[in-house]
Order: sequence, then structure tokens, then C-alpha cells
Amino acid sequence: MAAMRRASAAWVRAGEVVGLVPTMGALHEGHLTLIRRARRECRRVVVTIYVNPTQFGPKEDLSRYPRPRRHDLALCHEAGVDLVFAPENLYLPDHSTWVEETALSQGRDGASRPGHFRGVATVVLKLFNLTRPTRAYFGQKDAQQVDVIRRMVRDLDVPVRLVTVPTVRDADGLALSSRNRYLLPKERAVAVEFARLLQIAARRKKNPAAWLRAGLKRVPGLSLDYVEPAGGRLCAAVWVGATRLIDNERINFSKTENSRV
Ligand code: AMP
Repeated sequence: MAAMRRASAAWVRAGEVVGLVPTMGALHEGHLTLIRRARRECRRVVVTIYVNPTQFGPKEDLSRYPRPRRHDLALCHEAGVDLVFAPENLYLPDHSTWVEETALSQGRDGASRPGHFRGVATVVLKLFNLTRPTRAYFGQKDAQQVDVIRRMVRDLDVPVRLVTVPTVRDADGLALSSRNRYLLPKERAVAVEFARLLQIAARRKKNPAAWLRAGLKRVPGLSLDYVEPAGGRLCAAVWVGATRLIDNERINFSKTENSRV
């Protein structure tokens, strides 16, 4: 932490634009898209890799979350990252201060994962304070997370510009996620079906949420957590075996695209 502070202080003193990409590691093309965007737009790029315990529930996958550190570092190196901050632990034993956004964090993932967004907001503010970024990059895949962080930055006057990056998908349509590596081949096919139905539903003019809910309930091996429209996006979470997946898509995406042409 001290070394991180020294580096960011020197960059701030020199007036350099610092880009931050916060991650939990197990980096994939989604993360790399954020990193490349930061690389294009900033003089300095910091990637943080930290599996933040405070955003995991007691029965969640904290201990089995993948941690391929060497591979992650190699990817960061190749992508021209200036500094990787991968602390073992960010919390003192008597840590007792939390950042709690109380409106946008309600419902959806906030309801299914109590305390999740409190952990996210707290660690993101800590990472902002340690890395002092000019710009910070987040993926649209975690739509509610982006909303919560944007609100926190506004409400607490945090001097950072947030940049949101569209969701990167595999060729079969599944949104890239570090958790995809938990999926057995059979489960992967179910996850792809989730992504496929979401894409179709989001383009429907009439009641996309009800259509998606009904469609997902018919998929064997999939159990529905929630389907909910929010902020012009159709958001959904499902369980495929022991793996929880989230995804979202802009509603009437193709219609909007066409109307732009
Ligand atoms: P994570 O390591 O899962 O906490 O993700 C770190 C950052 O990468 C977050 O801002 C995520 O929204 C973003 N991210 C994860 N998956 C994707 C994806 N498939 N496309 C775009 N961004 C992503």
C-alpha cells in the first residue's frame, strides 16, 4: 500500500493522467478491453487485482474464486500496464467504516447478495484513494455496480471521471466472466442459452421481461434469480449449477440502432 501511494503521489505531482481498472483478477478479454481503453486515454494505467472479501456473502465463492496471478501479470505486462496493485489484504483487523449507497443498490443483485454493494463501494473508494485516478474504467456487464459507483462519486464529490465500457461477449454470445471457468461443458451450453434468450428478449417491443422470465423457466439446468428492467436495460441473474451469472442488454437495442442510421 505504501509503494502504491508513493507511485500515485509522484504521478499526481507530475500532473499525469492516471487510469484505473479495478478487477478481481482471472483476467479475460473483457478486462483487457477496459485496460486497452485506459491505455489509449491515459498516461499511466494502474490495474488492481483484489478479490475483495467484503463483497462476498458467507456462502459465496470467495475461497474458490480463481487466482491465476502469474497469468494475470503476464497479460497486464503485454497490455502495457504501468503498475499492477495486487494487495493480499486491504483491511485492518478493526476496520469499521463503510460506504453505503442506499437507493440504487436496492433490488436485483443488492437483494440477492445482501451487503454486496456496501463491500463494492467501500473497496472502490479505498482503491480510488490509494491510486488517485483521473479516470476509472468499469464494465457495463455489472450495470448495477456502475450505477452505485457513479452515485457514490457524485454524492461524495470524488474527483474521478468514470468511463463505462460495453460488455464483451464470447463468439457464442455468453458475456465474458471470470466465473465462466467454473462451468462444466454441459453447463456452458445452458449459460449460452441464457445469453441468447436475453438478447432476443431485449429486442422485443412488448414486455421483454415477462417473455424472458417465461423463457428462462423452461431451460433445464437453469434456475432463475431475477429478471428486471432497470435504466433502459433488461437485467437478469441466473444460477447454472453452483455458478451465478448476471447479464444485461439495452432494451429494443436493434430498434435504437436502426433509428440512428
Ligand atoms: P471483475 O474482475 O469481475 O470484478 O471485473 C472487473 C471489471 O471488469 C468490472 O468493471 C467489470 O464490469 C468488468 N468486466 C467484467 N466482465 C466484463 C465483460 N465481459 N465485458 C466488459 N467488462 C467486463
